[in-house]
Amino acid sequence: MFDIRLSEEQREFRDLARKFAQEEIKPKAMALDREPDWEKRIPWDLLKRGSQLGFRTFVLQEENGGSGMSDHLTSCLVAEELAAGELGTAYYFMLTARRARDWIELRMTPEQKAYFLPKFLDDDLYFTTVAIHEPDTDVGFDYFTETPDNVRLKTRAVEQPDGSWIINGAKNFQTVGYLAKLLVVMAQTPDGAKPFLVEGSSPGLVRRPLPKMGRRVGDNAEIFFDDVRVPKGRILPPSPKGRTDIGTHPTIAALTLGLGRAALEETLKYTQERVSGGKLIIKHQAVGLTLAEMAMNLEAARRLIWTAAWVKDHPEAIEDGTVENRPYEHMATAFTGTAVQRLTEQGVELFGGMGIVQGMPIEKYVRDAHIQKHISFPFPSRFKIAEALAGFKRKVPPFVGVN
Ligand SMILES: Cc1cc2nc3c(=O)[nH]c(=O)nc-3n(C[C@H](O)[C@H](O)[C@H](O)COP(=O)(O)OP(=O)(O)OC[C@H]3O[C@@H](n4cnc5c(N)ncnc54)[C@H](O)[C@@H]3O)c2cc1C
Repeated sequence: MFDIRLSEEQREFRDLARKFAQEEIKPKAMALDREPDWEKRIPWDLLKRGSQLGFRTFVLQEENGGSGMSDHLTSCLVAEELAAGELGTAYYFMLTARRARDWIELRMTPEQKAYFLPKFLDDDLYFTTVAIHEPDTDVGFDYFTETPDNVRLKTRAVEQPDGSWIINGAKNFQTVGYLAKLLVVMAQTPDGAKPFLVEGSSPGLVRRPLPKMGRRVGDNAEIFFDDVRVPKGRILPPSPKGRTDIGTHPTIAALTLGLGRAALEETLKYTQERVSGGKLIIKHQAVGLTLAEMAMNLEAARRLIWTAAWVKDHPEAIEDGTVENRPYEHMATAFTGTAVQRLTEQGVELFGGMGIVQGMPIEKYVRDAHIQKHISFPFPSRFKIAEALAGFKRKVPPFVGVN
């Protein structure tokens, strides 16, 4: 039965994340964002502390060192809370957590798991990234949901006589790419593009964080591969057929939601403190109406995200007709990205002149929301929705890359 009432365990995780985010992350958010030196923007103490609280590992089964909370709804609850504290810091935990489940538990071979799981568990600063996007090739928005068979990546892997592989090429924009200790790198082989498990310590790997307008705390990196050797047996197997509970879309939407919630909370606070035109500005009717619209859109986004998460974990609900078959995760991603960008802009208007002053949180939220709008894949998500509505599959154009 379709039921998204939260369990006691889910509420416990949400509350733990809220306490950590509000008491430890949020007080540091503005100072971190304004720090000009990239290295000093890495929140080492928060990353360590958050890992010790379990925010990197909670999605793993108990026998694998986690808390067994592998469902997507719990991840969305935790993501919203952490991002309401500080978006970039939340990214480190949440993408790594979901990928630990997808890669280590659901996809790795027993040998790969035996090698990577202990490393992942023993190191509080073990984060991961996925490297698909490349500079100067035609692997952009069209390839965000699936890498088509006809793709020809510029980054190449060449098999050696001993079964190891040598990778050469370049990637860019990878989230958490600078700090990642495990990278899944899509590289071209004679049998098509394959996902290689590459360790961050590999000789020949050069990484550089990209300067960004928003989400300045979590890094996005350029990554160069100069004869990077990957041992034999390190191609990540594909997702098991038929599993719907793989992927990060609802979690990313929930991260955006957390940012939006923080923006609404700060705006609500400010409009109840600032007096202008003879009264608290919240008492001006137009201000109240704007706040109401912000709150409605945020709640609509939350409902869509929770539905998307729940359905990912309960494919039987689609099969038995309890829930209608809709592209919920694409709807959640696209709607939240657009709604939160709009919401932060409404917030900045309600702050008046103070809205554009550096050091006011709303100004950071506007910049962060632009990054989240991009990462909500506004066009491809909508293509997917249109395909589902009309019952067709859009033909991905043949790759015209640089080979
Ligand atoms: C913050 C951030 C995090 C990222 N994280 C990662 C990561 O972890 N790993 C990774 O590999 N990559 C990552 N990326 C890269 C991301 O996947 C690409 O930026 C994205 O796929 C878009 O590609 P592009 O930038 O080349 O844009 P392009 O594809 O060049 O698009 C440019 C413009 O053209 C439009 N456009 C493109 N194709 C079409 C089409 N078919 N129809 C209509 N309009 C179209 C787009 O909508 C857009 O407006 C990240 C990027 C950012 C900014």
